Amino acid sequence: MMLVVFLLGLVVGSFLNVCILRIPAGTFFKNTRSHCPACGAMIPWYLNIPVLGFFILMGKARCCGARLSWQYPVVEFGTGLLFALIFHRFPFLEVADGAGRVLVLDHAQALRFLHAIVFCSILVVAAVIDLRLMIIPDVLSVGLVLTAPVVVALHPDLTWRSSLYGVILGAGVLYAVAWTYWLIRRETGMGFGDVKLLAGIGGWLGFQAIFPVILVGSVSGSLVGISVMLWNRKLDGKTALPFGPFLAAGAVAHLMFSQELKELWISIGL
Ligand SMILES: [Zn+2]
Repeated sequence: MMLVVFLLGLVVGSFLNVCILRIPAGTFFKNTRSHCPACGAMIPWYLNIPVLGFFILMGKARCCGARLSWQYPVVEFGTGLLFALIFHRFPFLEVADGAGRVLVLDHAQALRFLHAIVFCSILVVAAVIDLRLMIIPDVLSVGLVLTAPVVVALHPDLTWRSSLYGVILGAGVLYAVAWTYWLIRRETGMGFGDVKLLAGIGGWLGFQAIFPVILVGSVSGSLVGISVMLWNRKLDGKTALPFGPFLAAGAVAHLMFSQELKELWISIGL
C-alpha cells in the first residue's frame, strides 16, 4: 500500500512540474500534450514516465540535446516520498486480520490523508516557483485562503474558528514583521506573497500552526541563508533568499509532527 501511495506521488509530482512551469507563464490551460521546453518538439509518453524518463535520457532532451533541469526528478521523487510519509502519518486502510484479511477504511483518516496530499502538493508548487522566480502566484496563496471554508467543511478536526483565526494571525504576524522591517531599513525585506502564503497555511491548518511554522521557517531559513552566504563568501547580508519554501517546509513539518510535538509538551509538563 505504501508503494502504491509512493507511485501515486511520483505521478502527481510529474503533474506538479507542469504546474510549476505553466502557472507563472499563464499557459496552464494551453497545449495539453507535453512539449520540450527548449525546442517545442512533442515528447513521447514513454519519456514522460516520472523519474525514470529523466534517467533514460541521462538528463538530456532527445529532440535537441538541451540539458533537462534536475527540478523534474527531484520534484517527482520528493512528492512520492512526501505522499508515502503522509500515508505513514494517516494510515486510512487497515487490515482487520483474523476472519479473512478484510481491509477496513477509516473515513476520518482518509479525509486527513486527502487534506494533507492536496495541501502539500500546493505547497510544493508554491515553494519551487518561489525558488525559481522569487514570487508566489496568488492562485496558490489566495487560493488556499479562499478554499479554507471547504477544508473546514470536510476535515474531521479543523474548526471554522481555528481556520479563520489562522488566516488572520498568519497574515497579521508576517504583515507586522514586514512593516517593522520597512520602518527600520526603509526597504522591503519580505514579499507580500509570503504574507498571503502564511494566511493560507493558517486557513488550512488552523491558528495553532502559525507560530510553529514561523519558528521552523525562520530557523531553517537562517541556517540555509548562512550556509549560502558562506558558500558564496558574501557576508554582506544581502543574499536574497525566498522565504516561501521555508514556510512551506514548516507547514509540512507541522502537519507531520504536531501530534508528537503536543505529546512532547505534555511530557515535559508544559
Ligand atoms: Zn527539445
